[in-house]
Amino acid sequence: MIPTNPKFSLEEADLQAQIDTGHLINVAAVVQCTEAEGPGKRMALWVQGCPFRCIGCCNPHMLAFQPRQLQTTQDVIQKTLSTEGIEGITLLGGEPFAQAVGLARLAQAAQEHGLSVMVFTGYTLRSLQQAKRPAWDALLAHTDLLIDGPYLPAQHSHKRRWIGSDNQQIHFLSPHYAHLRDEQAGWPAANNTIEIRLHNGQISINGFPHQDLTRLLLQPTGK
Ligand code: SF4
Repeated sequence: MIPTNPKFSLEEADLQAQIDTGHLINVAAVVQCTEAEGPGKRMALWVQGCPFRCIGCCNPHMLAFQPRQLQTTQDVIQKTLSTEGIEGITLLGGEPFAQAVGLARLAQAAQEHGLSVMVFTGYTLRSLQQAKRPAWDALLAHTDLLIDGPYLPAQHSHKRRWIGSDNQQIHFLSPHYAHLRDEQAGWPAANNTIEIRLHNGQISINGFPHQDLTRLLLQPTGK
């Protein structure tokens, strides 16, 4: 069964409509240039809100469907295209397909600009295709590399770089990363990396941190 997105409150209905029509993207976080979220140097954009509740999710603060950083899709596209030194973008979250209209526009603009597009989703590719939703089809059409399926702690693994559990499949939806097809020789098998940033007194971490570290960082600080 495909989980559906919980509804926003009445006051936020207009906001939901603007996200559903692709005018706004509800962004949880952006790292302009990272090497921990896919091949090469990439801009990574995490969206806020996910209908899945995977035990052990490394971004539990991004699951609630609530307004976070609301940005117009046009602004996100402009910032993406003006980012120098990246080979692509990675969309993750949260659930990218919960905001597929805006993200499909972003992905299309990125590809037209020569950037690759990698997407992490809790849905399986099969369920996305079978749903026959135009917005999901559009985002898939502009995705080069799709990592699908929920994170399953019982299948937790560091065998494949950037990928958290063995059930998650790599789908090469374009020839862009064909050289990585061979999981033995092509796909990086190194332990997952994390990047730690300190900015304006705040620490941010991306990559695939150990669950204990995530738990520690999300603890409220005592006064
Ligand atoms: S699909 Fe991803 S973001 Fe959503 S709960 Fe699962 S691991 Fe977390």
